[in-house]
Amino acid sequence: MAKHANKGTTRAGYINRNGQINIGRTEPSRAGTDHGQYIYIIKCTKCGESYGANGSDIFERKCPFCQRGRPGLALLADEINKMAIVAGVDGCKTGWLCVAKDLDTGLITSEVFSNAKLLLQHKLEPSVTAIDIPIGLTENGPRQCDIEARQILGSRASSVFPAPIRPALQSKTRQHADEIRRKIEEKGVSAQSFAIFKKVLEFDKILSTLPHLQDRVKEIHPEVCFWAWNNKRAMSYNKKSRGGRAERHELVVKHFGVEAVEETRAKYLVKCVSHDDIYDAFAALWTAERIFAGKAGVIPDPSPHDAIGLRMEMWY
Ligand SMILES: [Zn+2]
Repeated sequence: MAKHANKGTTRAGYINRNGQINIGRTEPSRAGTDHGQYIYIIKCTKCGESYGANGSDIFERKCPFCQRGRPGLALLADEINKMAIVAGVDGCKTGWLCVAKDLDTGLITSEVFSNAKLLLQHKLEPSVTAIDIPIGLTENGPRQCDIEARQILGSRASSVFPAPIRPALQSKTRQHADEIRRKIEEKGVSAQSFAIFKKVLEFDKILSTLPHLQDRVKEIHPEVCFWAWNNKRAMSYNKKSRGGRAERHELVVKHFGVEAVEETRAKYLVKCVSHDDIYDAFAALWTAERIFAGKAGVIPDPSPHDAIGLRMEMWY
């Protein structure tokens, strides 16, 4: 696997000079015709046709349909129909709120998934999913991305909770997690921190067995997204306050339109999906679009790997 897969031609969203866009790697990944290469789904932005290509060919590929390029590698029916979809996800009371955007039509849809596995089996198969969950964990000590996020956010720094250390993650009770962390770091685990353990563990279990998922599933923090969105200025108010809702609403509506927000709001009960869950999911979606377009930033850059090889990074 390419080390800098996010920045290179194998990144979903990469467009070469012939207007050929990389929709993403086939999944499960199928071997290409070059040694050690996987097949990627390429879509021609000129004629809309899709075809398969070796990762190593993406850079110079010409469309086989309208640019007299070499014939593409065969794709399965599902792969041919795969669209350029990006998604933003935030945890909510009943699971995960996912807002997805079709980049060809601009259509935005939303869905709540009860667990991570179902979320990652999204029928739209997003090329990029930006999600508010720590991915990549330390064995001991804070993650650099959390430290940098707090520095960036200034007065909003307290919205970044320290990610769990992996040894404490399996704990069934806060008391047990607290004991483990005290042994390793001489610090306890607050109830607020422990509340996210279950969701972090869900992702950590999946990503530890399928680490390549990190090519299309990207950690974000909504407040860092809003900071970037607001010309690198942190939001002025807490997201739960009236002023906080108003400033987030303004950014989201300006970019995605008021219908997208209102339709999402109308679809779920407030006790299941709160107002700030919706804005946070849209902030993630905004970042997913930027990742797909190759315009997103990441902290830290370059990002360190954890003990099982996952990158500890945060996108914005
Ligand atoms: Zn074409």
